[in-house]
Amino acid sequence: MTIAFVGLGNMGAPMAANLVRAGHDVTGFDLSPEALGQAEGNGVRITRSAADAVTGAETVITMLPSGRHVLDCYGQVLAAAAPGTLFADCSTVDVADARAAHDAAVSAGHRALDAPVSGGVAGATAATLTFMVGARGADFAAVSPLLSAMGRKVVHCGDPGAGQAAKICNNMILGASMIAVSEAFVLGERLGLSHQALFDVVSTASGQCWALTTNCPVPGPVPASPANRDYRPGFTSALMAKDLGLAADAARSSGVAAELGLRAAELYAAFADGPGAGRDFSAIVNAIRERS
Ligand code: NAD
Repeated sequence: MTIAFVGLGNMGAPMAANLVRAGHDVTGFDLSPEALGQAEGNGVRITRSAADAVTGAETVITMLPSGRHVLDCYGQVLAAAAPGTLFADCSTVDVADARAAHDAAVSAGHRALDAPVSGGVAGATAATLTFMVGARGADFAAVSPLLSAMGRKVVHCGDPGAGQAAKICNNMILGASMIAVSEAFVLGERLGLSHQALFDVVSTASGQCWALTTNCPVPGPVPASPANRDYRPGFTSALMAKDLGLAADAARSSGVAAELGLRAAELYAAFADGPGAGRDFSAIVNAIRERS
């Protein structure tokens, strides 16, 4: 299939490389010359603009920082794409922006869906991402084989916007659970428990969760977690703050009493508004320890 890939950053670069590896003809565009150079090395045909990239493509995949970037990009490319092109946005954006992007594409005579991901740069590189898809049935069927070349699990969550809804719900759980695990480690330290003893208990008890067993916020118990490499990401605190902000907005606008989610959004916004921004989100354990 001929695919245009716009946004070849930390996530987009390895995702596009996996599409090339699966035998697709991939054209790509990014504003960053460095990202373009890396993508070219991975077999992506580089173009001079996003509009050039989508010309002749059957599917357009975007992996951009925010909803504003996606809507701007669609504004530049919708007219250049052939009628009926399938637009799949894999960025994490507001549900309202996802629906606006879908509606703009459909009004221009195309098909569109949202397919945000979970699994981070490691999952993008290993093609083990989870895709959460908001799409009409026929569009889901059309995009599934492509997403399967970049991930291990593809879930049809509902109509356009439903993928983004699932994504922000998941990350609200993740943000709150990372804070809870971090608070427990700092409390355990004060009570004289070793990190390993607490890990050995909780990882096989009812407090078990991904934040503990895969992304453990203290060095030692999980050798591959970012805590063992001075919290090099991984998933940055800035991105977690962004996703929790989207979840908090959605909770407020839909009247949900998501008190832990709102507090997690505040704590990550404060942590990411400083040196924590570029560090893995598990580094929040250090801010909790400093305040204790
Ligand atoms: P990134 O900043 O590394 O990459 C974004 C790329 O988009 C950059 O290379 C930038 O130059 C490019 N870009 C911005 N505007 C553009 C435009 N108009 N045209 C072309 N290129 C443009 O970010 P990332 O980590 O790859 O994240 C991308 C998306 O994936 C975000 O929405 C993020 O929330 C989501 N996400 C990231 C992770 C992660 O672990 N990094 C995990 C899940 C989801």
